[in-house]
Amino acid sequence: MTAESDPDLTTTDPEIAELIQAENVRQRDTVRLIASENYVSSAVLQATGTVLTNKYSEGYPGKRYYEGQQIIDQVETLAIDRAKALFGVEHANVQPYSGSPANLAVYLAFLKPGETVMGMALPMGGHLTHGWSVSATGTWFRSVQYGVRKETGRVDMDEVRDLARAERPKVIFCGGTAIPRTIDFPAFAEVAREIDAILVADIAHIAGLVAGGAHPSPVGSAQVISTTTHKTLRGPRGAMLMSTAEHAKALDKAVFPGLQGGPHNHTTAAIAVALKEAATKEFRQYAAAIVENAKALADGLSAHGFDLVSGGTDNHLLLVDLENKQLPGKQAAKALDRAGIELNYNTVPFDPRKPFDPSGIRLGTAAVTSRGMGTSDMSQVADWIARVVDAERAGDQHAVETVGEEVRDFARAFPMPGLSGDSA
Ligand SMILES: *Cc1c(COP(=O)(O)O)cnc(C)c1O
Repeated sequence: MTAESDPDLTTTDPEIAELIQAENVRQRDTVRLIASENYVSSAVLQATGTVLTNKYSEGYPGKRYYEGQQIIDQVETLAIDRAKALFGVEHANVQPYSGSPANLAVYLAFLKPGETVMGMALPMGGHLTHGWSVSATGTWFRSVQYGVRKETGRVDMDEVRDLARAERPKVIFCGGTAIPRTIDFPAFAEVAREIDAILVADIAHIAGLVAGGAHPSPVGSAQVISTTTHKTLRGPRGAMLMSTAEHAKALDKAVFPGLQGGPHNHTTAAIAVALKEAATKEFRQYAAAIVENAKALADGLSAHGFDLVSGGTDNHLLLVDLENKQLPGKQAAKALDRAGIELNYNTVPFDPRKPFDPSGIRLGTAAVTSRGMGTSDMSQVADWIARVVDAERAGDQHAVETVGEEVRDFARAFPMPGLSGDSA
């Protein structure tokens, strides 16, 4: 492992090399509908596997605690400038290791332990880090949680307003992980303004749609925007915090030295690449196609009698309540996985079942859109999902396997971004 002896991965560790190869093939041969996942481009992948991983650079461009930052400062500055331009924000921090630490930095910046935060309850579609009980954010802080209306499956803004007036949270989170509808940022901003709270828009799921003009932007409504970079945005695993100039210092201090040490510079470079890609006309078309595909998938599933939470979707995501299909979400998800259709079981609002074995499944169209699949492909996928769910309920494993063969042939026909050469 010195310069004289520096064999490649297949030589050094054939076990890991083979597993990576197998995952390449699995991702190629699967219809991937996990709403938080995607395929990054070869350019993004390349940036992550570079010598930038060797460099320590605690601090920020121009204010580092280690020498040798001639190049790293330029990389991080590019990422920051691209984030600011793409989202139209005054400040961007590209160092959070992932979405959860990014949100923790928000707490550190604006709240003391025991102070009140308001977020959407996890079983209603919120994220763990929005104050859910098992998360540090729900134990170290006083958390109050809102949900959706039972009749509409949509956020109950009356409940949000009443709860905010009664509990006076210092920070309000909007956004979540299983919200199939447009987030009304101005309505949240009005509530936050009334009680002088800081509004945080967590756009982890929809960042690519916001960047591509397929979902309204929180800029002008939320003082702070938190996002992952690896979901609809199609970047590497990572996160960003964006804000008005007023909150820049507090957020930067919270990320470093508040929570983290050295930033992951290989990730920062890949974020910069993803942001450049997201600023193109093609990406705007991509974002629009994600939403069109989600609507087509929703139409296809509705035609097969599936019960969609909120009746449909405005974004990349669908939440399906399987109660009327008499099949638990977990059993459906596992059967679909055997058939090469990958998604996750998920609680639905007011779920009578337990979180580890809930009533629903969650689907998203970002990854399949990255493969170049279109709306007619989505109705085909909906047909397969219906066939698998019916077969699984009837205990017909042969029918599940038959769908699996069709799915594999179908998926293979679509080029896979980032597929390493020798898998093709
Ligand atoms: C995915 C997600 C996160 C957390 O991201 P990780 O990178 O998994 O830690 C935070 N908030 C929301 C709304 C998310 O969807």
